[in-house]
Amino acid sequence: MFWADKLLENRTGKEWINDAWTPSGIIHMGGLKGPVIHDVLFKVLQGQGKDVKYTYGFDDMDAIDGLPSHLQEKLGQYMGIPICNAPAPEGEGTFGEYYASFMRELFAKLGIGAEIYLASDYYKKGLYDEAIRFVLDNAQKVRNVYGEMYAREIASDWFPLQVVCPTCGKVGTTTVTGWDGNEVAFECSPTKVKWAQGCGMQGKISPFGGNATMPFKVEWAAKWWVFGVTIEGAGKDHASAGGTYDVARKIIKDVFGVEPPLKLPYEFFLYDGKKMSSSKGLGLTGQELLEVMPPEMVRFLMIKNEPNTAVEFNPFGTQIIPKLYEDYQKAAFEFENSTGSDLARAFELSQIGEVVIPPQFRFLTLAQWVQMPNMEDEIRKEGLSGWAKYAKVWVEKYAPENDKFLIQKELPDVSGLSFEQKEYLRSLAQLFENEISAEDLQTAIYEKSKEQNLKSIDAFKAIYTSFLGKDHGPKAAWLLQSLDKNFVKQRLQEASK
Ligand SMILES: [Zn+2]
Repeated sequence: MFWADKLLENRTGKEWINDAWTPSGIIHMGGLKGPVIHDVLFKVLQGQGKDVKYTYGFDDMDAIDGLPSHLQEKLGQYMGIPICNAPAPEGEGTFGEYYASFMRELFAKLGIGAEIYLASDYYKKGLYDEAIRFVLDNAQKVRNVYGEMYAREIASDWFPLQVVCPTCGKVGTTTVTGWDGNEVAFECSPTKVKWAQGCGMQGKISPFGGNATMPFKVEWAAKWWVFGVTIEGAGKDHASAGGTYDVARKIIKDVFGVEPPLKLPYEFFLYDGKKMSSSKGLGLTGQELLEVMPPEMVRFLMIKNEPNTAVEFNPFGTQIIPKLYEDYQKAAFEFENSTGSDLARAFELSQIGEVVIPPQFRFLTLAQWVQMPNMEDEIRKEGLSGWAKYAKVWVEKYAPENDKFLIQKELPDVSGLSFEQKEYLRSLAQLFENEISAEDLQTAIYEKSKEQNLKSIDAFKAIYTSFLGKDHGPKAAWLLQSLDKNFVKQRLQEASK
């Protein structure tokens, strides 16, 4: 049984799926795994006829706690400010909106049906007020969870809340030091964190209505409690043993007294065995992935393996992408033939709206075709126009040298060709005196080699060597036919000397 069906077997009651992300940087492809996995769970539950909701949050009350070097000068003064209150790196709007807009675009392309919300909206509208009161009243229980999970003493004047400083606007620099049931006492410290400097203000303020934010782990649990979230997975960075996911799950249990949502940890995509990271330039961004494959295939890549399997994905100079096309075609074939396999189900859940059956044409061959001029008609005839743009990107950015076939402007080194091979090339030249179809040309190329007792493999090697400088290549007749006749004749003569 497909992992998502198995996971959601025999559940009862209403379901609320949630996922969230802090919009403060470029989205690498691994950042799409959570949204897609949750979307697939949403689809499966809808398919079961369940009453189900799927929300996706932008955690925009978080402080800016780091900036890429090119933004440090421009935005350095906003370190410590909630990302919903800092300006965008470029253009209008806020820092949070700027990065969130990229995720919104990706959601639209990938058909992700989540209802999007902003954490800052939830705070400002007072949706978290009850939870804030609850965790302040029960601060000792939160301290106990932290103490147990991190095996250290948590000070009795520590409170699970951070005020947005009314003087300097920073949230990363503040500490709540007291709670009287009405207001919190706080200070904004110049030295609390290394990456931002507080203004030194001390005072009292209402913790409600957007004046303050709960720490990440507490907020996570509070969100589950407030909305009755029943399903929320977490990527490995949060879901390692004793990590933030476990802490949040313990908080909802021990502090709020409610069972945590379904547990679903999921693994990273790896790049040569390392975690992908856009800041380190390791791996692909979500946008780059969508440039080299259709959105349905991106979804397929995210869900075809069990979530807790780390998937290696270094496409540079490898066959990983063509292999994914093959897997996808196989999955579509199994779906069409109702095999009931996991692969068929993965294909079905990868679809966005109507099912689109992909062409059953080899991607690597298409990658050859897009490198040849005048193949547009052939590509259209085979129903490959949609995929041709992806194949071009693959050839340009990812293909191993072996799969790139550039017509060489100057005669490549043909010294390795035998006398017979050269004779063969000379005899081919006459085929280009008149118009000839690619099919007829292909037949003629074979026949000439037979006439001259040249093995066909040696015949083709001679052709590829003189035009591509390689001993292999795409369908020779189509390659030659796509070129200017005089150029071909001249090249064949040069090569046969
Ligand atoms: Zn301040």
